[in-house]
Amino acid sequence: MADKVKKLPYFYGNITREDAESYLKQGGMGDGLYLMRQSRNYLGGFALSVAFGRQVYHYTIERELNDTYAIAGGKSHRNPVDVIDYHAQEADGLICLLRKPMNRPKGMEPKVGAFEDLKEELIKQYVKQTWNLTGHALEQAIISQRPQLEKLIATTAHEKMPWFHGAITREESEPRLLKSPRTNGKFLIRQRDTNGSYALCLLHDGQVMHYRIDKDKAGKLSIPDGKKFDTLWQLVEHYSYKPDGLLRVLTEPCSRPDGASNDIGRPALPKNHPVDGSTRRPKDNNLNTYETRGPNTDAMPMDTAVYESPYADPDELRQTHVDRSQLFLEDGELGSGNFGTVLKGLYTMRKTKKPVAVKILKNDDNNAAVREEMLREANVMQQLDNPYIVRMIGICEAENLMLVMELAELGPLHKYLQRNKLNVPIKNITELVHQVSMGMKYLEEHNFVHRDLAARNVLLVTQHYAKISDFGLSKALTEEENYYKAKGHGKWPVKWYAPECMNYFKFSCKSDVWSFGVLMWEAYSYGQKPYKGMKGNEVIQLIESGQRMDAPANCPPEIYELMKKCWTYKADERPGFSVVEPRLRDYYYDISH
Ligand code: AMP
Repeated sequence: MADKVKKLPYFYGNITREDAESYLKQGGMGDGLYLMRQSRNYLGGFALSVAFGRQVYHYTIERELNDTYAIAGGKSHRNPVDVIDYHAQEADGLICLLRKPMNRPKGMEPKVGAFEDLKEELIKQYVKQTWNLTGHALEQAIISQRPQLEKLIATTAHEKMPWFHGAITREESEPRLLKSPRTNGKFLIRQRDTNGSYALCLLHDGQVMHYRIDKDKAGKLSIPDGKKFDTLWQLVEHYSYKPDGLLRVLTEPCSRPDGASNDIGRPALPKNHPVDGSTRRPKDNNLNTYETRGPNTDAMPMDTAVYESPYADPDELRQTHVDRSQLFLEDGELGSGNFGTVLKGLYTMRKTKKPVAVKILKNDDNNAAVREEMLREANVMQQLDNPYIVRMIGICEAENLMLVMELAELGPLHKYLQRNKLNVPIKNITELVHQVSMGMKYLEEHNFVHRDLAARNVLLVTQHYAKISDFGLSKALTEEENYYKAKGHGKWPVKWYAPECMNYFKFSCKSDVWSFGVLMWEAYSYGQKPYKGMKGNEVIQLIESGQRMDAPANCPPEIYELMKKCWTYKADERPGFSVVEPRLRDYYYDISH
């Protein structure tokens, strides 16, 4: 939504209240003349300025917890534009009806705040320093976790600012401000305690004034009786243009003395993770802003031990074959298939012990074909390296043939969603499905077809981290031909297959896109069976007659539209993952702002 608002002709971006008033004056101040701007104190919020009786009235359009928007205390709407449309019909608390938008002058773009400008660089630095990532891994982390990272940056960005001096005392702060030049309005912020209380120290006519900044129960920061802000950043921006109760405006940030740290974020943690599970980052961080994250589900993909390949560490030896003595198998199955079982194990590497999943070929009938199949799967997996794909760690030939893979302990997506219906909101599903589209985009770019993409083959590492698995049917495509032609019909997952697979045995990345549409349907219906109660040939008939599955209950309309795009009959008219992934990404960012 935030992006849609930016395109509105009457949206001015991060301008001040006074600027808004002057634009409305330029427009003649007719009753009901209005414009919209970005809230300068609430993250993701907007402000509405309306002229009436030669005066301007300002209203905050708050973004509420469930992602709806409302003028404080008023009726909730799906997005800020709906708020405007509603108040064009109903005053409902406003001074008058919204009658005429005051559009931006020709050639003027919405004003970008200082923070927005810096944000990209800050996010990059943060991810680099916190998780020690570079290149592709860094880029993939930012694409999949941008909304979460933006929130983290917004609430920690002050640490990077020259005016933030950390936990120094009142006595320590004064000489810093009194050092020449003694410019009026010179300021710094210091941390008073770890409960979120700070002090603003301001130089005024040779004296240092100290203003307390308290954090209320909702996490909002304010000087006593002052305006409330989500971040220190916004507070400084506000008092830099307006004294608003202070003795004067903030002018010049007082720089930290040499040697004071200005690193943002937590120090990078060692890459090697303790044996027990997946979290790589301590729990001291600022994650309480993630509404859906419970006690143990607050990890981001980058926090887990399976975000990067175990061989990304240059000290670890990349090996295709794993020595049996390095592998310990635990009791208890993770799952099973027609090849045998999958057990949890522990793989001893040079520097670390890694929890793994081990696919074990059953020995009883010594079936060469199954063995071949398993080795083919291992071969495909060994060529892939992406955070959203289960990686192969190695093959182990011992009492059985074993494939050692990354562990995705929460198991198949459809089963997880069936079990946790009430705890997984739509936004969380969108996050996961978007990750799957990122993994599939990677496969498409590397010319692999999966051929068995379905919710049962998406495994969860955490409630916020999905990986594509089961490459048993996958094929590498050649440069010349962008599809794989099967020799004949096999035991096929017909309900996930595109028409060209059934009619011509042709498999391409576009047929994976069809399957992805079915996977989306499964995810948004919380793990229900697609085409419930229908037989394979009935499904084929239904598709051939031009019909498609209905939208799952409560499925966002944008998502159902995308599903139907994935079910475009002709492969060459169907979008590829290079189109589907950014579509999902935009939608995910939109609902997360
Ligand atoms: P598959 O035949 O590869 O689909 O594996 C059968 C079942 O084993 C899956 O449905 C999962 O429950 C489990 N499984 C397979 N691979 C893994 C893994 N890497 N991590 C955790 N569980 C797995």
